[in-house]
Amino acid sequence: MLESLRRIVQEVNAARNLEQALAIIVQRVKQAMAADVCSVYLADPVQQHYVLMATDGLNPEAVGTVRLKLNEGLVGVVGERAEPLNLDNAPDHPRYRFVAETGEERYHAFLGVPIIHHRQVLGVLVVRQRARRKFDENEETLLVTIAAQLAGGIAHAQASGGLNNLQHGNRGAQGRAVAGLPGAPGIGIGQALVIYPPTDLDAIPDRKSADVAAEIKLFERALSKVRGDIEALAARLRATLPEEDIALFDAYLHMLRGESLAGKTIARIRAGQWAPGALRDTILEHTRAFEAMGDAYLSERASDVRDLGLRILAYLQADARRNHDYPPRTVIVGEEVSATALAEVPKDRLAGVVSVRGSSSSHVAILARAMGVPAVMGAADLNVIRVDGREVVVDGYRGQLYLDPTPVVRAEYQRIAHEEQTLAAGLSELRDLPAVTRDGHRVPLYANTGLLSDITPTLNSGAEGIGLYRTEFPFMTRERFPGEEEQRVIYRQVLEAFHPRPVVLRTLDIGGDKSLPYFPIEEDNPFLGWRGIRISLDHPEIFIVQLRAMLRASRGLNNLHLLLPMISALSEVDEALRLIRRVHDELNENGETPVMPRVGVMIEVPSAVYQADAIAARVDFLSVGSNDLTQYLLAVDRNNARVASLYDALHPAVLRALMQVVEGAHRHEKPVSVCGEMAGDPAAALLLLGMGMDSLSMSVASLPRVKWMIRNFSRDEARRLLDEALQLHTTSAIRLLLHAALQQAGLGGLIRAA
Ligand code: PEP
Ligand code: MG
Repeated sequence: MLESLRRIVQEVNAARNLEQALAIIVQRVKQAMAADVCSVYLADPVQQHYVLMATDGLNPEAVGTVRLKLNEGLVGVVGERAEPLNLDNAPDHPRYRFVAETGEERYHAFLGVPIIHHRQVLGVLVVRQRARRKFDENEETLLVTIAAQLAGGIAHAQASGGLNNLQHGNRGAQGRAVAGLPGAPGIGIGQALVIYPPTDLDAIPDRKSADVAAEIKLFERALSKVRGDIEALAARLRATLPEEDIALFDAYLHMLRGESLAGKTIARIRAGQWAPGALRDTILEHTRAFEAMGDAYLSERASDVRDLGLRILAYLQADARRNHDYPPRTVIVGEEVSATALAEVPKDRLAGVVSVRGSSSSHVAILARAMGVPAVMGAADLNVIRVDGREVVVDGYRGQLYLDPTPVVRAEYQRIAHEEQTLAAGLSELRDLPAVTRDGHRVPLYANTGLLSDITPTLNSGAEGIGLYRTEFPFMTRERFPGEEEQRVIYRQVLEAFHPRPVVLRTLDIGGDKSLPYFPIEEDNPFLGWRGIRISLDHPEIFIVQLRAMLRASRGLNNLHLLLPMISALSEVDEALRLIRRVHDELNENGETPVMPRVGVMIEVPSAVYQADAIAARVDFLSVGSNDLTQYLLAVDRNNARVASLYDALHPAVLRALMQVVEGAHRHEKPVSVCGEMAGDPAAALLLLGMGMDSLSMSVASLPRVKWMIRNFSRDEARRLLDEALQLHTTSAIRLLLHAALQQAGLGGLIRAA
C-alpha cells in the first residue's frame, strides 16, 4: 500500500499541470483500489459548485459539465461534513442524487473523502464499485491519505492558474487572490521576475525566449561542452577502469548525441520556451519515464539523466550570463527569496517581493520593510515556475497577491497606492518633529539597521539614533569572519554617522535562520540550538575580536551601546560582562582609553522574561526582541508559513510577558525598549506606550507612522486601552480594539488594509 501511495504522489508531483495531475490521480487510485470508477470533484467557490474535474470510469464527456451545488448529492455530504462517506449502496442514501450525464446508474458502492487544505474543503475524491459492498478500513484510510497528500498540490495549481477553463469559465486564476502573509506593508504593482537557485532543474521558471535561434545556439553549445567533458572523462578513466564500467559513459554520450534529448529540447525552444525551461521539461519527461518503470536499475538511469541535465544547465547559465534584465517595476518572486537577492535589484526598479516560504518575521521581510518595499511572504500555494513575466499586484497589508489582475482589481489597487503616496508625503512632514504624546511625554524612536547602505535613509528618517544594529549582516556578506580592523571601520562609520545620538550595536546573533556560509551549523532545531550569545561565549576568540572592534570604534564618540542577544540565563550575562570588562581593561592598559559602553540585554527568550528583574540589576538597559519572544512564547516558528496565523505579538500571553519586563527594568530604574517588529506596528506600539516602554526601535519605513500615532494619543489614553486589552482573551479581539481606537483618532490610514 505504502509503495503504491508513494508512486502515486511522486507521479502527481511531477505532473506539469492540474489537469494532468488529476488524470493521474483518478487512473492510479482506481487501479490501486481495484475500483470501477474514480473521480475528482473540485469546489468552485465563485459559483458555489462542485465540478467533476476528472474521472476514470464515468462518461468522460461529463468532465467539466457536471456541476453539483455545494450541498447537493453525496459529494455535497462529504464536503459539508468534511469526513469520509462509505456506503455499500449509494442509492439508498436519502441525499443520493442521480446524475444521468455521468452514466452512473450501474454503481452501488460509494466511498468519498474530502480533499482538505488549511481547513478548507477543496474537493471530493470518490471511488465507486458496481457491486454492493462496503470498502474496508484499509481502503478508506488509503483514500484519506491520498487526498491529504494531494491537497497541497491541488491548492498550488489552483493558485497559480493551473486550472483549465473547466472550473472558472474563461478566467482561469485571473482576478483571484493568492493568499500569503503580510511581509512588508504597501501596494506594489509590477512584473514578476522569478529568482531560483542556479543548480536546481525543478526550480527553473517558464520564460518566453526573445530570440529562438540564439536560444537554440546556446543550448547546442552547452550540449557540446558537456559531450566534450564526458568524452575527456571517459578517456581519462579508460586507463584505470574495466571496459564494462566505461560503458556507462558511452551510454551518456549516446544520450547526448541522440535525437531524443536534443531534438525534444530544441522542439520546445521552437515552441517558445527559453533554453533552460525547455531542457527542464525534456529531462523531467525522461526521468519520469524511467521512474515509472518501477525498476531499481532503471530508476538509477533516471538520476543519470538528471545529472546530465544539470551539467547542461550549468553551461547554459555560465554561458548566457543571464544577468537579470530587471523590468522597470520588478516584483521579485521565489521559493525562498534571500536578503541578498533583494539587495541585488536596483532600488528604483523594485516594486515588490513575494516569497513562497517565510513569514513577516523572516529576515528578508525585515529587510523589505527597511527598504519600504511591499512584501508578501508564505505564499505557499503559488507555483513559482509559472509566474515569470506575469503582471502581479502585491498587497503587503493583507498578505496576498493577484496574478494577471483584472482591470478592476488593478485600478482599485492603483487608487490605494496613490492614497498611500499622499499619506507618506503627509507623514514626511513629521520628520523633524519629536515623537511626543499629546500630554507632552517623549518616546524616542530609534531605527533598526544592519546594512551600511541604510545609513543615509536612516539619517534622513528622523530617527533619534540606532536602537538595533544587527552586526550579522557584515558577517554574512563575507567569505570568512571579518577581522578586527575590518569590523572597527564598519562600526566606526555607524557610530560616527549618528554621533552624538546613541547607537546600539548588537553582538553577533548567528544561528537560527541566519547562517554564515563559512561557518555552517547543522542542527535539528536551529532556533533552539547554538545561537547568538551561546556561540559567542563558546568562541571567545570571535567574541573578543568583535568587542575590541566595537570599543575601539567608539573612541572619542562615547555613543556606543552594546546589546547581547539570546540571553537565557544569568550566567551568560555575567560571563559576557566579564569579557566586556576584560576587553575594556586591556584596551585601557594599551593606552586606548575607550569609555566603557552601556551594556544591555535582549529579552527574547521566555526564561529572560521571568528573570528580567535580576538581569536589569546587572546591566544598563533591556531591549525586548519581540520577534523571537513571540516565537518562543507561542512555540510558533517565525519562518514557518504553515503556522504563521498563530504568530502574533498581540497575543495576550506576549502582552503579559512584556508588562513583566517593563516592571523588572523599572524596579531598577533601567530603561527598557522594544526593538522587534512589534514596535513598528502602530497598533501594537500604542499598547507599548501604555506599558511605559521608554523607547521604541523599528525599521525606518515604520517610523513616521508610529510617530504619527504617538503624537495623536496621550499616555493616559494608551494606558486605558492597555487595561481594556488585558481584559480580552484573544489576539483578534485585541487587534480590533486597537484598530477601532486608531480609526476613532482619525488615523485610519495607518491600518487601512488594501
Ligand atoms: C527580535 O528577535 O525581536 C529581534 C529584534 O532580533 P532578530 O529579529 O534579529 O532576531
Ligand atoms: Mg531576535
